[in-house]
Formats: sequence, C-alpha cells, structure tokens
Amino acid sequence: MSRTTQDWQAADAAHFLHPFTDFDALAKKGSRIIERAENIYLWDSEGHKILDAMSGLWCVNVGYGRQELIDAATAQLKQLPFYNAFFQTATPPAIELAELLSEVTPPQFRHVFFSGSGSEGNDTVVRMVRRYWDVLGQPERKVIISRNNAYHGSTMAGASLGGMSGMHAQGGLPIPDITHIEQPYWYELGRPQGLSRDDFGRLAASWLEKKILEVGPERVAAFIGEPVQGAGGVIIPPATYWPAIQAICDKYGILLVSDEVICGFGRTGRWWGCETMGTRPDLMTFAKGVTSGYIPLGGVMVGERVARVLIEQGGEFNHGYTYSGHPVACAVALANIRLIQRERLVDRVRDDLGPYLAQHFEALKAHPLVGDAETCGLMGAVVLARDKASGTPFASDLEVGMVCRGHCFGNGLIMRAVGDRMIIAPPLVMTRDQIDEMMVLIKRCLDLTWADVKARGWV
Ligand code: PMP
Repeated sequence: MSRTTQDWQAADAAHFLHPFTDFDALAKKGSRIIERAENIYLWDSEGHKILDAMSGLWCVNVGYGRQELIDAATAQLKQLPFYNAFFQTATPPAIELAELLSEVTPPQFRHVFFSGSGSEGNDTVVRMVRRYWDVLGQPERKVIISRNNAYHGSTMAGASLGGMSGMHAQGGLPIPDITHIEQPYWYELGRPQGLSRDDFGRLAASWLEKKILEVGPERVAAFIGEPVQGAGGVIIPPATYWPAIQAICDKYGILLVSDEVICGFGRTGRWWGCETMGTRPDLMTFAKGVTSGYIPLGGVMVGERVARVLIEQGGEFNHGYTYSGHPVACAVALANIRLIQRERLVDRVRDDLGPYLAQHFEALKAHPLVGDAETCGLMGAVVLARDKASGTPFASDLEVGMVCRGHCFGNGLIMRAVGDRMIIAPPLVMTRDQIDEMMVLIKRCLDLTWADVKARGWV
C-alpha cells in the first residue's frame, strides 16, 4: 500500500459520498483513514493508535481480528459463497443460525426473518406488523407509534420510525401512519420539573396511552422502541418506564417491538435489552452485534403471537431481500454467537465489566464540566453542562460536545458526541485494565475541554 494519507483523502473527496456527512465540508477537511485494527484498537494511516470506545459503530462487540470469524467466512466462501432463500431453498448456515437465535432469545421467539441490515429489519417490521393485523381482519390497524429522538435506521420506513427531525426534514418523511411521542429523557425533561426518575418514567410511559387514545385504539398496530436509545445519546430510561409501556401495550392489545440493533447480544449485560428492561416484545429487530460487524446481517425475531398468524393464516408474505439469510453472513454470525457463549461475554458485562464501568462513571460526576453520567451494561453517557449544580446546558451553537470530541480524536480515543452528551459503547471483550486506560483518556479529554470552555469565557 504505497498511497499516502493525502492521496487517500484526495481520492475519497473526489468519489466517496459518506453517510450522514456534509460532503463539501468533509472534502475540504479530509477524512481520517483507518487502516487496520486489533482487539479494541485502531490504527490510522499516520500510524496513530486509537482506543475504539464505540466498537466501530456499536457493533464490534467481540473486538477486532478474531480468527474464528475470519475462518468461518473463509470456509463458507469456499463452500458456497451465495445462495438465496426465495425459491423453496435454504442453506445450512442460515438454518443453523435460525435455530441458534431461537435458543439465545426469550422463549416467545422461535422464528426469524433475515435482512441485510438494521434499517431493512425495521422495514420488515412495518410490513409484517401491518400484514399481521390485515390477516386478522383488522386492516385499519396500521399506525405505529415511536418516539422523538429514536433511531431506527435510514431507509424510508426506518427513518420514518426514527424520531430525528433532521432526517424527517429531508425526503418527505415520515411515511403515513407513523407517529411519535416524547422520549423518556429524565435529565432534560423530568429533572427540570423536580420529578424523581421513577415518577418521570411513569409519566413518560403515560404519553403512549394518551397517544393511543388520540389516534383511536382500533387504529394502533404497534409501539416500537430501543430499550436504551443509542444514536439519540445513550438515553437510559428510568426503571419504571418499560414495565409501564408493556402494561399499556397489553391493555390495548398492541404489538410491542423492541429494536435491539444496539442493545442485543450482551450490550446491556443480558442477551437482550428487553430482558434488562423487563418487557416481553412480540418482535425484535437485530443487526450489528449478530456478526460483531464483521459482515452485514440483520433480521427480525418474530414472536409466536405473530408467527402463528402469519404461518397458519397468512399465505404468501410478499417481502424479502436478496441477502435474506446470506450463507457467509450467517456462518460468521454462528461463529460470533458461539464465541460470545464460550467466553461468557454477556455474564462478564453483567457481573464484572458493567458494574466496574458504572463505578468509574459515578466518579466522573465530580468533574466540573459533568452534569450527569450514567451507564447501562457497557454503554455510557456523560452530559457536559455549563452549570453542573443547576444542570444548565451550554448554548447549542457553541458545540461543546464537538470540542470534546476533537480532543478525543487528538488523544487517541473514539468517543461520540450527540449534542453535549459524550457517549461510549466499547467492545465487550475489554479487560478491567483497558477500562482504566479508557477512563484516563476520557478524563484527560474532559479536562482539556474544561480548559477550553473557561479560556473562551463560556462558563
Ligand atoms: N436501529 C437501531 C437501534 C440502530 O442503532 C441502527 C443503526 N445505528 C439501526 C436500527 C439501523 O441499522 P443499519 O445502519 O444496519 O441499517
């Protein structure tokens, strides 16, 4: 590889339109070129070593460079690189993965529909939920309720389910019969009113019932949510929230969909976020962690309530993707899930690494710049506040989160900024020593940001 960083940047700027990017601004600045990775570290084209506290994009849960995933892909590429599942055919890896997923998911799940990504999985959810009510003779039940600041993907249906106003503003979204309620974000919405977390959790859940009554219960098909909102800023709902949501769905017979694209496969310290939060979803979207991001794969776990209707009364379901059950992706997923089982990664997050990270984040609350810090399993968020005592935020146009993110990049740490929430979701294979190492970097970046904020007179 003889190209220099500048060569890569020039070719990148000339030809590659990046996702969620201001093309012109990036072309002027130049991309950072990531060339290789091992365990929890990345190396860029300038030779800098970077601790990847975001697991790529919330996906590389088993860390980089795992030989058995590489071997599984190689062997399957040789044996059968592709065959489809459309025409009454199936491949052994897809069948075996379907079987294994029904083992590692809650008992209501015995069937899976495969997709190529999380967004496609959520498109499948929309089609399937509406088909379910159709088959049951209630075609007017079409409305799906989601939340502001949710992220469910970037396809037409995924972005419509999501509650990102910037996405709705482009491309005529949301599509019909998708509506949103406010998110369960205590620090921003409950704390200023003096509500306890628990009281706020019940209040936020009551917004679902209010919306159901406004739409008309006979028109509501499903409610969808991420157990912990990831891209929205690692918004961890109060413990009272999800049980109350489950009760409301039960009361009105509405399907509950858990988007587990980030929370699935151990991120929260249980196999599934719904297990951590205490819900019993009818459908679960997954992607990312199913292959630890080594190769694209997603899908929807279909609970028996829905599966029985579609199987016994549904006839043909006119929906599917070329890569539904891609044999190479499924072979990698099998190797990945077996590795998670063998190394007991989920228990490790629940019993050891999660509590250890939580202690560290608790200590961060003493930092002058930190208004709040919280974790769930191996995901965490730090809120940067102008006045920590009152929780007063910085003016959003100051982009203090981006200042902090700049320091992270400069100090060999990948941490993401969502507004002024600094977030992490590191690989589940981390050691305690590596958590210590990450925390030293996080503190250093907070100190540097604090110094900037003071020097610029922002506090
Ligand atoms: N749902 C959630 C909760 C996600 O976090 C994401 C991706 N960040 C998606 C869906 C979409 O997945 P993909 O990017 O694989 O389409």
